[in-house]
Amino acid sequence: MVLDRLTPLQRDITRQAAEAFNEAGEELFLVGGIVRNAILDIAPPADLDYATSAPVARTRELLERAGADAIYLVGERFGTVGAVFGSLPERTNVEVTSYRREVYPDETRFPDVAFDVTLEDDLARRDFTMNAIAVDAATGEIVDPWGGEADIALAVVRAVGDPDQRFREDPLRLLRAARFVSQLGFRLDWATEQAMARQAESLSRISNERILVELTRLLTGPYVDHGLDVLRRTGLLRVAMPELEPLAAEAELDLSDRLGREKDLWDHTVRVVRQAPPRPAVRWAALLHDAGKPGTRGIDAAGEIHFFGHERAGAAIAQRLLGRLNADKALRSSVRSLVELHGRPAAYDESWTDSAVRRLALEAGPDWEDLLDLAAADVTSARAWKRREADNRVAALREHFARLQEEAELAKLESPLDGDDLMRLFGRPPGPWIKGVKEYLRELVIDGGLAPGDRERAERLAAEFLTNEPAPRARPGR
Ligand code: ATP
Ligand code: MG
Repeated sequence: MVLDRLTPLQRDITRQAAEAFNEAGEELFLVGGIVRNAILDIAPPADLDYATSAPVARTRELLERAGADAIYLVGERFGTVGAVFGSLPERTNVEVTSYRREVYPDETRFPDVAFDVTLEDDLARRDFTMNAIAVDAATGEIVDPWGGEADIALAVVRAVGDPDQRFREDPLRLLRAARFVSQLGFRLDWATEQAMARQAESLSRISNERILVELTRLLTGPYVDHGLDVLRRTGLLRVAMPELEPLAAEAELDLSDRLGREKDLWDHTVRVVRQAPPRPAVRWAALLHDAGKPGTRGIDAAGEIHFFGHERAGAAIAQRLLGRLNADKALRSSVRSLVELHGRPAAYDESWTDSAVRRLALEAGPDWEDLLDLAAADVTSARAWKRREADNRVAALREHFARLQEEAELAKLESPLDGDDLMRLFGRPPGPWIKGVKEYLRELVIDGGLAPGDRERAERLAAEFLTNEPAPRARPGR
């Protein structure tokens, strides 16, 4: 049962809210991602979404009565009221939306919103059947007019109603479908996929910012290879990221006879993305790391294929693509740098000097960990020994750099007292005794027995050290 799968806090909030709304004669249903995930028995999202028969003003009142700690208006036009229950670290954000229906005058304008509708109408405006299930907040009864539960059991993303019309109404749904495939590992219903292919061009009506958000969610999903394949098959890739078209086009070509041993670049790319850890910068870099290859391919006199300068070319493509999608500066610069440097860690071997390692780490700067992770992911050879060798190389580079860092940390550890301090304290002239005391104190700091800033204790320890030290032998003649 769905309500049982909420966290205890979410359950409490849901019960309180249900009481307040039902006592006032209003309906309250859980909807959206939380219901979908609960049925799938995967971790519920942190936020709670409800749909209600109550209009906005009434919703505010009832949320207050339910014990909300803060209430704010998300969008009057969309009928959504936000509320916060509890305080940090156990606070929960709640959104309650009045039943509504969008009325699309034509494809180029924003829809009008009508609120004079039932729960069934509200569910009918939602994008996919798995997202169009409601659960009564009081009883846990499921309302599922579109067969969402069955589709979840079949692991299918299926548009609610006529798919062509639904994608035309709001082309962002095209990317949401691909994103859910990547997040959930579902496949696309056949008619839904056909409609996506037909409507792919309409994605150009969606703002770049929203496209970027969905693409990043897709890229960080656990089934990203399926999600990317959906983009390619439906033609969405060409509309959303035309810069990758030459790379994706290779999936269609059979390069095997003409170009010998080269493997399919698209297939390689998709596998590297999946193998990279699911963080935005490194996944974006994985997607783009070989984007410069189609444009730099050449064959030398011996018939060997090469891609001179493909890293640079790929970095320029990354810069262009993410710039067009209005990515923030941090993401753009990380991805550009990762693409440019992606081949360097693979060249590491024992002959690398400390300064060679330092130079690469300095070039990568804040992206060092991502660079190593990308390099480790950039191995898709079918041969196990090749994969192992590549793994070892990256691991050795990681260790080499860690050792340099540790040494640098050690070099920073100093005796709390310097030579001047010691001479003043003990009224003794300069001499080798100073080095002895400083080394003794520094050792204690390194061992953790003395805080680097604890001068008082250092003075006491230095005094003890000097008393215990055998007095220097008197030189004859003095
Ligand atoms: P998640 O929160 O994990 O992204 P979600 O399904 O909750 O998944 P939201 O964007 O929070 O997604 O939207 C909540 C619900 O609103 C969805 O489950 C869906 O029913 C509906 N919805 C969201 N966006 C659209 C859209 N573009 N078209 C139709 N319905 C939508
Ligand atoms: Mg949600």
